[in-house]
Amino acid sequence: MLDKKHIHYFETLVGKENVYSDKAHLIAYSYDATRTRFEPEAVLFPRDEQDISDILKYCNEHLIVITPRGAGSGFTGGALPTNGGIILGLEKHMNKILEIDMENMVAVVQPGVINMDLQKAVAEVGLMYPPDPASEEYSTLGGNVSENAGGMRAAKYGITKDYVMALRAVRANGDIIRAGKRTIKDVAGYNTAGILIASEGTLAVLSEITLKLIPKPKFTKGYMGIFPSVDDAMNAVFKSLASGANPVAMEFMDALVVQALKEKLGVELPEDAGALLIGDVDGNVPEEVAFQLETLEASFKENNAQEFIIAHDDAHRNKLWYARRNASPSITIFGNKKLNEDISVPRSMLPEALKAIYAIGDKYGFKVPCFGHAGDGNIHVNVMVPDGKDEEALHQGHQAIEEIFQMVVDMGGTLSGEHGIGTSKAPFMGIAFNDMEIQLFKDIKKSFDPNNILNPGKMGLPGA
Ligand SMILES: Cc1cc2nc3c(=O)[nH]c(=O)nc-3n(C[C@H](O)[C@H](O)[C@H](O)COP(=O)(O)OP(=O)(O)OC[C@H]3O[C@@H](n4cnc5c(N)ncnc54)[C@H](O)[C@@H]3O)c2cc1C
Repeated sequence: MLDKKHIHYFETLVGKENVYSDKAHLIAYSYDATRTRFEPEAVLFPRDEQDISDILKYCNEHLIVITPRGAGSGFTGGALPTNGGIILGLEKHMNKILEIDMENMVAVVQPGVINMDLQKAVAEVGLMYPPDPASEEYSTLGGNVSENAGGMRAAKYGITKDYVMALRAVRANGDIIRAGKRTIKDVAGYNTAGILIASEGTLAVLSEITLKLIPKPKFTKGYMGIFPSVDDAMNAVFKSLASGANPVAMEFMDALVVQALKEKLGVELPEDAGALLIGDVDGNVPEEVAFQLETLEASFKENNAQEFIIAHDDAHRNKLWYARRNASPSITIFGNKKLNEDISVPRSMLPEALKAIYAIGDKYGFKVPCFGHAGDGNIHVNVMVPDGKDEEALHQGHQAIEEIFQMVVDMGGTLSGEHGIGTSKAPFMGIAFNDMEIQLFKDIKKSFDPNNILNPGKMGLPGA
């Protein structure tokens, strides 16, 4: 347990009302979306950047480990205090939008701002912050930057890193650093902001984020393509994009997901539907939207689409999207334990990657329903273990995952398109990086955090 003298010191730093070591708080802050539990020894709520700096300086001197935390919605254990120590909760006080600069189309926010709060605030003035993870209602921008979160609009608008212009951050020793500028161009010095993005709280605590905004498109329409096979749908993805289509989203669901949607949720889909592509197109004039839809329809039909449906209004668009939003809950018909990974491959490799994934599933006897952000080459692969209490089956499931990772990396892909490494994918870092590359990560970590107090043990880096 953390010595009482440390708790007292933190109380003098940030006030008694911002330091908790009671059981209720320790339990409440012991989870993230992995549903694994590690209790911290104290939970601290800094009020501002100076508080973060004071806390880190003290912890660095006394070798107390710190896990920064936004909303705790991460899927890979990044916010879990696996080594005990302190949870630094950024969501409670540091949740203000500091500025919306209309002229430069930039927002400056504290790290605890919820993604959707920023989206709503900028939409009111005709602007858009595009990255929209499915956790947008509760995940924080600090967490989004630290995981480089993606979202449904990534096919056209990119991911979090494409919107980060500048950061303020606090290093382990309490030093406050600035990285990047509020300028479109900036080539002075190393790209420190680029190193901090996706660093999962292992290098520094983000204290302020400057984000690029874009004009909000005026018209949006939904579409759905129905294909006889996964292969046809996957070909349609990269061929339609290569032929000039620029959809906002292009989401994929395979035959198993189609089966699950019908059986569990009664979604009406054609008998012979083997795969779906669902998405949106947008534009500032109706003609732009119409052009996008025509381009997609032509390309989908060239790739054997049986049907191309265009949503006639918002209610219809929501109905089309219902299938995608419920893909994840529906597949529990195949097993009560889902081993869920979010691999990413170059888009042209999608047909081959999906074939290989199903072959690995067959080899181990598991159903592997797949869905996700096909427009970005990012697929959620779900190895369904029928009985999660069956240790041997679980072991086999993990072996199947390891084979999938190896195959993905061999195809030029990556272990994670958006969920990060945290603790759950740390054992696989050796598949994706060689010893020299991993040593470089360790060297970078050491230069930011020589005493290894910031989120030790994450991303395959050494524990405390
Ligand atoms: C239902 C659901 C849907 C999801 N959908 C998506 C999706 O579509 N796309 C996607 O990319 N992800 C998705 N996620 C995963 C998750 O929401 C994202 O990774 C999100 O970015 C995490 O934000 P958070 O505020 O919850 O961060 P946390 O989980 O609290 O933390 C995540 C990591 O960031 C670090 N961190 C947090 N704040 C700071 C800070 N200020 N400074 C330094 N480090 C910090 C933590 O230490 C940790 O390593 C989903 C999760 C759920 C539960």
